[in-house]
Amino acid sequence: MTNKRKAVFFDRDGVILKMLCKKGRMEAPQSIAEFREQSGIIPGANEAIQTARDRGFLAILATNQPDIHYGEITQEDFDSIQAEVAKLPFDDIFICFHGREEGCDCKKPKPGLLLQAAKKWDIDLSKSCMLGDTEYDTGAATSAGCKSILLSTSYNTSLGADYRIASLTDPRFGQILDGLV
Ligand SMILES: [Mg+2]
Repeated sequence: MTNKRKAVFFDRDGVILKMLCKKGRMEAPQSIAEFREQSGIIPGANEAIQTARDRGFLAILATNQPDIHYGEITQEDFDSIQAEVAKLPFDDIFICFHGREEGCDCKKPKPGLLLQAAKKWDIDLSKSCMLGDTEYDTGAATSAGCKSILLSTSYNTSLGADYRIASLTDPRFGQILDGLV
């Protein structure tokens, strides 16, 4: 008999926060002004987190945020945006701040953030999943032994995943979680 918890890991940019299209590239907001004027929390984020929590899953944010390291956002702007994200009912938040060249174990698609969370919260990763929008998320999920769920977007149509949902309020999300036993 095991009392291990189960979790839904949520990516941040493109799942919880609206991405901005800049010069043909999708990017996270790089200032609090951009967040307030052009980005913001994606509608349905709160509901998706509640969908997970209502089913007994921990809702955990697991995100790569290297832009402070690369000098693309100030610490102050990052903190202001993250403070808005932290108002959502997450049980915990795990962030990799490293740059690509630093060789850390936590930058997705490595599984480090998920493994850290599993250790802290005694999570059974085989009964857990990661909801994301890129191959970094599906890769981390697979490496950690979780199921991967993609939030379908214009830029991930050709990517493979265990499951897909069309939006954060897609009723299929709850059905997928009900099936993870
Ligand atoms: Mg993302």
